[in-house]
Amino acid sequence: MMQAGLFRDEERGEASMGALQDSSHRELRGGEYWRTLPGYSGLCADEFHSHEFQQRNTVTDLARLRAVLGNVVPDSFYSDLEDGMRHAPMAFRVTPHLIALIDWSSPDSDPIRTQFLPLRSRQQADHPMMTLDSLQEQRDSPVPGLTHRYPDKALFLPVDTCPVYCRFCTRSYAVGADTERVSEKLKLHANRARWEQAFRYIEETPRLEDIVVSGGDAFHLRPDALEEIGRRLISIPHIRRVRIATKGLCVMPQKILTDHAWVDALTRVSDLARSEFKQVALHTHVNHPSEIAEVTQRAMRVLAGRGVLVRCQTVMQHGVNADAATMQLLVRRLGWVNILPYYVYFHDMVPGVEELRTSLAEGLVVEKHVRGVTAGFNTPAFVVDTMGGGGKRDAHSFEFYHREHGIAVYRSPSVRPGRMFFYFDPIRSLSEEARWRWGQPVERRRMLDEVESIARG
Ligand SMILES: *Cc1c(COP(=O)(O)O)cnc(C)c1O
Ligand code: SF4
Repeated sequence: MMQAGLFRDEERGEASMGALQDSSHRELRGGEYWRTLPGYSGLCADEFHSHEFQQRNTVTDLARLRAVLGNVVPDSFYSDLEDGMRHAPMAFRVTPHLIALIDWSSPDSDPIRTQFLPLRSRQQADHPMMTLDSLQEQRDSPVPGLTHRYPDKALFLPVDTCPVYCRFCTRSYAVGADTERVSEKLKLHANRARWEQAFRYIEETPRLEDIVVSGGDAFHLRPDALEEIGRRLISIPHIRRVRIATKGLCVMPQKILTDHAWVDALTRVSDLARSEFKQVALHTHVNHPSEIAEVTQRAMRVLAGRGVLVRCQTVMQHGVNADAATMQLLVRRLGWVNILPYYVYFHDMVPGVEELRTSLAEGLVVEKHVRGVTAGFNTPAFVVDTMGGGGKRDAHSFEFYHREHGIAVYRSPSVRPGRMFFYFDPIRSLSEEARWRWGQPVERRRMLDEVESIARG
């Protein structure tokens, strides 16, 4: 049903061929990359590469960022950031490791800066169809913090904080309320009753076989809590698979190297699962090849030595990784350090980050160039997590894609039969006429109706 010529992109294809012959994906950033920043210049590797240092010095406000960077960036950068933060849904939280990986000679275009530090000069107006919690996870939650949408799997959110806050977080409705270490402990404690409700629901729902422990981030579970959750889930006879989600491996790999109690707890859970003929895997989240440094590889060596399987989910973002060459490099680098690329998500509708979203057409071109680069089992599926609770769909599986209006329609017969789900291209990717129509409520309704009626056939 697509219009002919929609995905013509020969030029980009040729440009990317050269890069596939080289071994740049194996060249990981090492050395003392933090030393060029005034705040970190005096630190030796043992100090910088400890999770205690990383945690204690995580940057959560402008004053601390200034203390680290000093005059490495001009004042205009700080004021742009300050203004950007006023319009952002997520609190600001970045580890020293990530700050040191940013190329501060061109912060405007740096892919790590783009993901964590909002600049007002880059922000764009939200799409008119934007809603908070666009995936409607709260509606599918039988108990608070447990989303049960698919037949045999559920998402359990035991904790609502992370070692970093990503600007584009889908759960900005829940994640990152406060970041003080003391109140985290209190909250964890208070949450035990809520966890118990979730465990009971899982125990009483025999069709469940697969639990995603997400959040928030499992790096923020204390070792005893991580082990308790793991053991409890594995002990449920019908549960066969548990995934533990953490962005930590990429944003604070030092924890895997120096927080032995946490890694030991994870190992015991992973070993227990294996002995019970079940599976525990760590799911991490890497978006750009420069987020995989030499220290990340060292952390992966530890996990591989413990027999812990690691998979990766990536969020496609304009200006970060939504081009063929970057995504190819990312997928090859993940494979090189033995992380299995699982999904690339099209960007959800999240307030305040419209400039990061891509059109479906743009993303499908990236997919076309990634498939074929390496082993099929190391090739991620590109998915759209549909608004309105239809769940994840293979991006290619749309019923109809109206490129001119920037609307794609999906169906999800195993999740919500009979309904249609939409993906909306960013307004900036549309023609002038379509942009104008999106600005008029009546025209907007017409475009949606037109696409719906075509999709109904
Ligand atoms: C993503 C997700 C899952 C897991 O889905 P997979 O496709 O198996 O990775 C489970 N529950 C919810 C609500 C989810 O969003
Ligand atoms: S680590 Fe995950 S849950 Fe936490 S802010 Fe980032 S995207 Fe959201």
